[in-house]
Amino acid sequence: MGIFDEMAKYGHEQVIFCQNRATGLKSIIAIHDTTAGPALGGCRMRPYENEEEMLFDVLRLSRGMTYKCAIADVDNGGGKCVIWGDPATDKTPELFRALGRFVDGLGGRFYTGTDVGTYPNDFVQAKRETPYIVGVPVEYGGSGDSSVPTAHGVMQGIRASAMELWGNTNLKGKIFAVQGLGKVGSKVVKSLADEGAILVVTDVVPSNIEQVIEIAPEAAIVRPETIFEVQCDMFIPCALGAVLNDHTIPKLKSKAIVGSANNQLLDEEKHGRMLKDLGILYAPDYLVNAGGLIQVADELLGANHDRVIAKTTSIYDILLQVYQIAKERDIPTSLAANQLVEDRLKLIAEVKQIRGSVRQGA
Ligand code: NAD
Repeated sequence: MGIFDEMAKYGHEQVIFCQNRATGLKSIIAIHDTTAGPALGGCRMRPYENEEEMLFDVLRLSRGMTYKCAIADVDNGGGKCVIWGDPATDKTPELFRALGRFVDGLGGRFYTGTDVGTYPNDFVQAKRETPYIVGVPVEYGGSGDSSVPTAHGVMQGIRASAMELWGNTNLKGKIFAVQGLGKVGSKVVKSLADEGAILVVTDVVPSNIEQVIEIAPEAAIVRPETIFEVQCDMFIPCALGAVLNDHTIPKLKSKAIVGSANNQLLDEEKHGRMLKDLGILYAPDYLVNAGGLIQVADELLGANHDRVIAKTTSIYDILLQVYQIAKERDIPTSLAANQLVEDRLKLIAEVKQIRGSVRQGA
């Protein structure tokens, strides 16, 4: 299939191939949809097998960013950047400066920052060449650890799901099975423990478990492979993607799934439907984990932590809206979230049809 066919299939506006021989930079930037505002999305660095894999990744991820921005109600569209290379061996400051030059050439249509394989300090270099960078270290004007708002958003998702299931947000005595005790998972465990929840936790790194036991001494620890089978009220995936699949879903003994991991459903349509058929309430991941995105998007407004937390708190109401749509249309919650996004983008596009009288073309 040709590149224009692929772009048409997913609705992309623009794809930019960037090459710089001196630094070895080979990068693709994809801008999916700028209805809501300039595209925003991280920059992933991976030793891709080939160009097709790289292109497919950037098209898929940039489209996902449109949905994530729209559902979180931030004024940005979806974009993404990928760099072909091994993050362990192929990084140089100049490579990121070269990328910065290309981003600058887009004149603010696209903002980028860290993703898998890239770190805030890489973008300190890119920022020497362009202002269209987010997520740099605090000392360079960034907004800091994104896992703080992300964990706050997960807690909002948990409360909204509790409201949906039980008609109240009291988590005391409810059982939560938490997979992954890293930056987000450990903060969620702390909040749940503070609210008197019963915790069953797992991680593949023993030191992460030890740290969490200090926060929540009562938590029960299980082996990573048995977390899916824990009899619980909510399963909280905060580790890896694709954890909800043909193999794991039949094992689940939870009433709801609310976690930060990206792309939890291996197949959005099929596995979203499987969960619905089993009566397991699924909180769409890209809404629940939007706190980090809300934080980086907020940098474009001048970075204000209180504003970030306030906006992230609205995940509670948006998730209840998603649950309502799913019930009304009798569809999986994963599809209800997508429909909410598509309806919202149509509305924003209509609003932007209104001509301002001063700024011509604005
Ligand atoms: P992290 O790397 O700090 O934590 C992930 C944890 O999962 C680690 O402790 C790791 O040891 C553990 N883990 C890995 N494989 C596991 C397995 N099979 N079973 C149990 N535990 C396992 O990452 P994080 O920042 O806490 O993010 C967690 C998830 O949320 C990731 O999927 C990430 O992409 C997603 N997410 C994070 C943010 C953010 O702001 N940090 C934002 C959006 C989405």
